[in-house]
Amino acid sequence: MSFDVRALREQFPILEQTVNGKPLVYLDNAATTQKPRAVIDAVSAYYQGVNSNVHRGAHYLSDKATAAFEAARATVAGFLNADREEIIWTKGTTESINLVAQSYGRERLRPGDEVLITALEHHANIVPWQQACERTGATLKVVPLREDGSVDGDAFYRLLGERTRIVALSHVSNSLGTVNPLDQWLKAARDAGAVTLVDGAQAVAHFPVDVRELGCDFYACSGHKLFGPTGIGVLYGRRELLDAMPPYQTGGEMIETVSFEKSTWNQLPYKFEPGTPNIAGVIGLGAAVDWLNQQDRAALAAHEDALLASATEQARAFDGLKIIGDAATKVGVLSFLLDGAHPADVGTLLDQQGVAVRTGHHCCMPLMDGLGIPGTVRASFSIYNTLEEVDRLFQALEKVRTFL
Ligand code: PLP
Repeated sequence: MSFDVRALREQFPILEQTVNGKPLVYLDNAATTQKPRAVIDAVSAYYQGVNSNVHRGAHYLSDKATAAFEAARATVAGFLNADREEIIWTKGTTESINLVAQSYGRERLRPGDEVLITALEHHANIVPWQQACERTGATLKVVPLREDGSVDGDAFYRLLGERTRIVALSHVSNSLGTVNPLDQWLKAARDAGAVTLVDGAQAVAHFPVDVRELGCDFYACSGHKLFGPTGIGVLYGRRELLDAMPPYQTGGEMIETVSFEKSTWNQLPYKFEPGTPNIAGVIGLGAAVDWLNQQDRAALAAHEDALLASATEQARAFDGLKIIGDAATKVGVLSFLLDGAHPADVGTLLDQQGVAVRTGHHCCMPLMDGLGIPGTVRASFSIYNTLEEVDRLFQALEKVRTFL
């Protein structure tokens, strides 16, 4: 089956517009992906014909909303190869990691214990662990990077020790696009007796993820980076661990019984879902995953690889451009600096030509400090970008060079 990027693009209405008089070239997909019509329609249909609270009503619309809400959970469980009780709805990757750090981390960590992360992590996979360590007397250990922006695997094995209780790793770096070889590292972490969490925010839109095959204990991701709505995310957790964990937040829905003396907790997954959830977000995310499941994912991945290969080749040939993070295994991201130009200025001048990128530290301040740079210009690609758009980026960069 040949891949027709034009036909795919037509399903993303936002891409049809012009920005600053130029056809929009949207290369900020690592920040958030655009939504296909299937997702927009699902959210709209929910508000137009179903809107009701879930799990509580004794009426038709509530039953319908609950059925759609739980069907989306089953869809996402299938997508990650988990059981439905192991899929907790959160606001996003950030909340998923906070849930584990606060519920599991604060309960289990003891003085002298260690939490192992890497120098590539997004703030969302640093600060919650820093806080958990501060509260418990545990120590945060950081695996350094190699020159090319890959995590130093030898250092990972050196730092993984008998005091390591939690290993929290990104699957794909949002700043540099580096893909971590998790199969080996997660196995080593398990053999060392550590519990593992994977920050999959940047992975799930690029390649299939099977949490059982990976062998992680927790996997976190966000709907909005997976062609779904903002404000909805997923925490996969291994059932035995979730069962043993205390609630993260409390209130309605997550309880079994409440008296003024004592409360008891609902069964999984509801124990971790207090209050009225983001019902439209859940339904939109279910639609996004259904939509993605209908695509030829191998063809999508091959297309994305071609985009990144073209961008990398043109970047290498571009005078005065330095690629930041040139690891052998990357997806979706070209981070770079232009000689003598501040990343923010480059971003503004690209925007004036209709090219949307992100500039700055990309929520990875320690990574940028380690690299000794203030930030980068990041072009991040998705399935609906075209090779012509990659060319447009470099044509626009030629102009930027003449302005600066
Ligand atoms: N982790 C990574 C690697 C990310 O790229 C992001 C978002 O950019 C996050 C975590 C946080 O995701 P969210 O803002 O959707 O909670």
